[in-house]
Amino acid sequence: MSAEIIDGKKIAQSMREQLKERIANLQGVTPGLAVVLIGDNQASQTYVSMKQKACENLGIYSRLIRMPESVSESDLLSTINELNEDSTIHGILVQLPLPAHIDETSVIEAIIPAKDVDGFHPINVGRLQTGGEAFYPCTPNGIMKMLEYQGIDLTGKHAVVVGRSNIVGKPMGQLLLKESATVTYCHSKTADLKAHTKQADIVVAAAGIHNLITAEHIKEGAVVIDVGMNRDSEGKLCGDADYDSCKAKASAITPVPGGVGPMTITMLLFNTVESAERFSKVK
Ligand code: ADP
Repeated sequence: MSAEIIDGKKIAQSMREQLKERIANLQGVTPGLAVVLIGDNQASQTYVSMKQKACENLGIYSRLIRMPESVSESDLLSTINELNEDSTIHGILVQLPLPAHIDETSVIEAIIPAKDVDGFHPINVGRLQTGGEAFYPCTPNGIMKMLEYQGIDLTGKHAVVVGRSNIVGKPMGQLLLKESATVTYCHSKTADLKAHTKQADIVVAAAGIHNLITAEHIKEGAVVIDVGMNRDSEGKLCGDADYDSCKAKASAITPVPGGVGPMTITMLLFNTVESAERFSKVK
C-alpha cells in the first residue's frame, strides 16, 4: 500500500477561505490578535512574523507588542491586563518560551480565558475535558480538522499519541477521546513503544525525535500524523516519522513540511475569528 498524502496546505487554504466568509459576516467588527514577543529569539521572531502575515492575508488586525528580554514579570502582566480590557483585541498570545525569570504559569493564567486563543489557560484546558465554551490548542485541534477533512472516522478506533506535552500530546488525546477513539498515551518512559504503536489505527507522533516512528512501529493501513519539527544532519526540516518507510505501509500520512504545520497557524486564525464572533454575539 502507498499512503494517501494528507495535504495540510490545501486543507489550511480551504479553512482560510471559510474564515474569510465568517469575517465578512461580522458586520464591521475586525477580529484582533495581540502577539506579545519577548527578547530576540530567532525562532520566536520567525513564528510571530508568520502569524502576523497570516492575519494580514485574512483581514485580521494584528498588533505586535515587543518587550526586551529584561522585562519584569509585573510589566508583562500589566500589558496583558491592558489587552484583556482592550475591546479591539479578541485574542492574546504570548510567544513562548519566556525568559527564565518570568513564571510561565502566571503569564498564561493572566490572559482572560475568553481571549486565550492558544488554549493554554487552565480554564480552557479544563473545559476541553469537562465541556463548555473553550478554546482548544491549535496544533491538536488542527489535526482533528485534518482527520475530519480526510473523512477518517474515529469512533472505536485505537489512537496512540506519542508524546505528552501540554501543548500537543495531552490535548490531542482528549480531543480524540471526545470523538470516541480509544486512546493510549506513550511518552519517554513508555517501556515498549513499538508494542503500543503497532496496535494503532492512528498514530500521532509528537515527541520531537527524528525517525522515532518507522515502518516497524506501525501496522499495515495505519494513519500516521506527524507533528515533529526536527532538523536532520543536513539541517532539513523533518518529522518524527521515517516518512518513506511509513508511507509504504500506512493508508494515510502527513508530510513534514506541508502537513500539520500549516494547520497550526490556521487554527490560531480560527480561534481569533471565533472569539470575535463570541464577543460580538454573532454566534
Ligand atoms: P511538543 O512540541 O510536541 O509538545 P515537546 O518537545 O514539548 O513536544 O514534548 C515532547 C514530548 O514527547 C514529551 O511529552 C515527552 O514525554 C515525549 N517523548 C519524549 N521522548 C519520547 C519517546 N522516546 N517516546 C515517546 N515519547 C517521548
